[in-house]
This record gives sequence, structure tokens and C-alpha cells, in this order.
Amino acid sequence: MSNSILLTPGPVQLHPEVEKILGLPMIHHRTPQFDEILNSCLKNLKKIFCTTQPVFALTSTGTGGMECLLINTLNKDDQVLAIISGKFGERWATMAESFGGQVLRHNVPWGESVNPKDIESILNKNPEIKIVLCQACETSTATSHPIEELSKIISKTSALFLVDAITALGAYPIMMDEWKIDGLVGGSQKAFMLPTGMSFVSFSEKAWVQIKKNKNTKFYFNIENEYAANKKGETLFSSNVTILRALDFVLKDILKKGLDKHFQEIKNRALYTQRISSDLGLTLYSKSPSTSVTALKLPTTIDGVKFRDQLEKKYSLIVMGGQDHLKGQILRLGHMGYIPTNQLHESTLKLAALLNENGFNFNLEAIENKSKDYIKEIFTCQ
Ligand SMILES: *Cc1c(COP(=O)(O)O)cnc(C)c1O
Repeated sequence: MSNSILLTPGPVQLHPEVEKILGLPMIHHRTPQFDEILNSCLKNLKKIFCTTQPVFALTSTGTGGMECLLINTLNKDDQVLAIISGKFGERWATMAESFGGQVLRHNVPWGESVNPKDIESILNKNPEIKIVLCQACETSTATSHPIEELSKIISKTSALFLVDAITALGAYPIMMDEWKIDGLVGGSQKAFMLPTGMSFVSFSEKAWVQIKKNKNTKFYFNIENEYAANKKGETLFSSNVTILRALDFVLKDILKKGLDKHFQEIKNRALYTQRISSDLGLTLYSKSPSTSVTALKLPTTIDGVKFRDQLEKKYSLIVMGGQDHLKGQILRLGHMGYIPTNQLHESTLKLAALLNENGFNFNLEAIENKSKDYIKEIFTCQ
């Protein structure tokens, strides 16, 4: 097996225990043994969502979870306000259109977070808006949006606030009930530190009123049917036994450690990355950087596509590049998943070495010492 380091914002590196659990012999999903695992997962997921509402574990990638939030609440010709600040915002807007929504696009420059006052005035002028869509963290630009402030504004209107928190939920605090979020989705291969293949969703009481009246066509993601199945201790269709067993471990592990501590660890990786990158002349792309993923601007003399390729082929360090007009200009480093600090350190040395091969002249020993100091300061300060 390779010794490569995977620092992408999904998929993420797995906890060694999760790797073992994924290889366990199969059990049937209609067994008391599995019922216990499903119940435990659904109960513990509520703690991550910070909600008393039921949380659902769907066998689909994150995009399926986004679709589930939409099709259970959106009716054809409903007005939808989509906050778009990157690739994933664009995806949700397009999805809402494909299900018959009349989508009003609020474009935010890439790398910036939305101004809640703008949303307030749009909602005041357009009282017929039924649904507002936003990413908690727009992964394509590593930017976090002010979800709490937005929730406060939207919850005063009749509109539902649906939040794609696929690179936020489980990585930093998202308080569904307290902030009054109406629909929330997380993804398995991001902050939940699992393989790709599951998404987790929940709806507020305000959303459930709309769900019961919803006329949109749906089958696989019919959440009322899923709820009925969950009440019987089952999932609507065959359960994803493999990932749910691993999820049960991950949730128990995080909750045992404490959510605050878990969030702090992820934040520490972001802080470390920000500090050491600045020593390497790499500046932050986002004006509102997320703690779950960091986007770094590459010097203009560097061809970012080639650079990322070299990092992967020569140094076995896998990070993401930019998409669309950011192609070749940024590197995106994920902070979710299982990342021991020695791997952070090694990644820095790899980055520095490759920068030097591309015409820079960093003192590698000095960088190595700084990196060690930062890790000591940042990871032992609480
Ligand atoms: C990864 C991601 C998605 C899509 O998830 P898939 O699992 O690839 O379907 C959606 N939104 C955000 C913010 C993401 O980071």
C-alpha cells in the first residue's frame, strides 16, 4: 500500500479502527445486532446536528442529501433564493431549477462570504420566496458563510432555510435547533471521516409542516416514508451496513473525546496551515476562511496544475486544486479526517521542497524548525 498523504476536503483519511471495521464480515440488516447500530447512529447524529428532530442516514453521496432536502420541501414553481459563491452553490441552484423551482440567484464573489443584510433586503422585497439555499462552507473556495446570522433573518420569514453543511457539519459547530436551520445535510466522506456513500439530513418542525403538504414527485428520498421505516428500527431500503457500523464508531469516538475538542483539533490544523503557508509565501484565497479546508494562492510564476501533479507523483501528497477560473491558481488542503500532526509536518516539508524545485529558495531546515514550533504551540495550547 502507498504511504501517500491525502489532504483533500473529501474524501479524507480514515481512522485505523474504521479501516478495520470496514473489513468485518457482513451481517444482515434485519437483525437485532444491526438494529442496535442503526439506533445508536441515529441517536448520536442528533448530537452532531444539535437537534431534537429526527436525523436520517441516507445511502447516497452528499448531493443526494441536498436533493432530499429540496424535493421534500420544494413545490413546482416555488420561488427559491440561491446564495451562490462557488461550485456547490451553483449545483444546488441548478438542482432546484430542475425540480421546477423559480430560482433567484444571489451571486457572491468567489472567496467572499455572503452579507446577511443583502439577504434580508432580498427577502423583504420578495416575500413570496419559499426556500433559501446556502452552503455553510463553500468547499470550492474554502469559504464559510455566516449561517447563524442568516438563520436569524430567514427564520423571521415564512421561507425555509436549507443548508448544505457537507464540509461543516461535524467539522465545526452548526446548531440546527438553536439557530433555527430548517434543513441540514452532512456527508460521509467529509467531516464524518468515512468512505463516500452516505449523507445525513434533518428537518425542522417548520420544514415538517411543508413536507406534509409537499406535492413534488419523489420516491427514493421520500422522507416521510424513511421516517416511518426508522420508527420501526429500519431504513426504507437496504441499509448501508458497512458504513453505518463505521459511523457508529466515529460518532462514539467523537462524542467520547468531546465535540469541542474534536472541533478544536480541526481548527488547529487550519491554524497551523495558515501560519506555515504564510512562511512559504502562500496567501489565503478566502476572505472568510473555513476551518475545515484552506485554499492557498500559489505564486503567479507557478503553473498550479503541474505543481499539484508533481506533489502527487513525486511527493505522494494529494491535495486539491482550483476549479473553473481558479484552475491552476490555488491549492485546497482539507483538515477533516484522520490526520496525525506528523503528517502535517511532512506535508509542509514536501510543499517547501517542491517550491524550491520551482525556483524558490526556502531554507528547508528553518521551515522544518518553524513547523515543529507551530505544531507544539498550536496543538498543546489547550
Ligand atoms: C463534497 C460536497 C458536496 C457534494 O458531495 P458528493 O458527496 O460529492 O455528492 C456538496 N456540497 C459541498 C459543500 C461539498 O463539499
